[in-house]
Amino acid sequence: MSETPLVFVCVAAKILKQDLTLMLYRLNRSTNSNEKPMTKILLVEDEGILRTTLAQQLTAEGYAVLAAADGERGLELARDEKPDLCIFDVMLPRLDGLSLCRIVSKEQNVPIILLTARSAEMDRVIGLDSGADDYIVKPFGLSELLARIRSALRRANKQNDSIMRLGHIVIDIASHRVWANDKEVKLSSKEFGLLATLVRNRGVVLVRDTLLSEVWGMDFEGDPRTLDVHIRWLRMKLESDPDHPEFIKTVRGVGYRID
Ligand code: CA
Repeated sequence: MSETPLVFVCVAAKILKQDLTLMLYRLNRSTNSNEKPMTKILLVEDEGILRTTLAQQLTAEGYAVLAAADGERGLELARDEKPDLCIFDVMLPRLDGLSLCRIVSKEQNVPIILLTARSAEMDRVIGLDSGADDYIVKPFGLSELLARIRSALRRANKQNDSIMRLGHIVIDIASHRVWANDKEVKLSSKEFGLLATLVRNRGVVLVRDTLLSEVWGMDFEGDPRTLDVHIRWLRMKLESDPDHPEFIKTVRGVGYRID
C-alpha cells in the first residue's frame, strides 16, 4: 500500500470530522477492491462505549462496520453507503431510531435490527410498524447479536436472487461481477453472458446453437468455434484445473452444462 491514500484519507476525515470507523472502512475498501466485498453493517448508537465496542467486535467478526452517533448522521450514511444490514438504537438524538427505521426501510430493501431498552420502549418497537426485521433487548450478548445478524442476512439474501453461489464461484448477475475462491475474476462481456446463461439454466444441457444465439445474437454467422474458445477462456479463469473441468461440463456432441 502506498502512503499517499492513507494520508489523504486521514486529512479528509479530519476536515470532514467523520467517524474514525468510516475512515477505516473506506481505507479497507479501497485497498481490497478485487476481493469479494465485505458485508457492510451500519451501526447507529449514541452510547459511545457500546458503539465503539460493538464496532470493534463486528469488525473482528469480518464485517465492514460504519458507525454513527445520531439518527441524522445514520440516515446520511445509509443513503451514501447502502449498507447490507442496519442496527439502530431506538433512543437516538436528532432523529430517533424508529423514525430512522421507517425512512430507511421505505427507501432501501435492507434488513434492520433495532436495539431497545427494556420496559415501555420495547412495547413501542413491537407495536409500531417501523419496518424493522428484528429487535434485540439491551443488555445483550455478542453471540445473540451475531445470530440475529446472520439470520437477518440469510433472509435478505434469499430475497436477493441477483447473487448466485455455486461452490467456489460467486456471481452477481446485477453488477456483472464474478468471484472465484473469494478473488474477483475479470470477464469480458461475452464471457459473462455465456456464464450467466449457463448459470440461469443450471442442470440443463444447453445446445451450441442456443448458446450462440443467446450470447452472440440470433443472427450469429461467425465461426461456431468462437463458442469453444470462450468456454476455454472461462475455464482458464474459473476452474482450478482447466484441462479437467469440474464447473463447466462438456456434453459431447450436444453442448455445455453447469450443475
Ligand atoms: Ca440510546
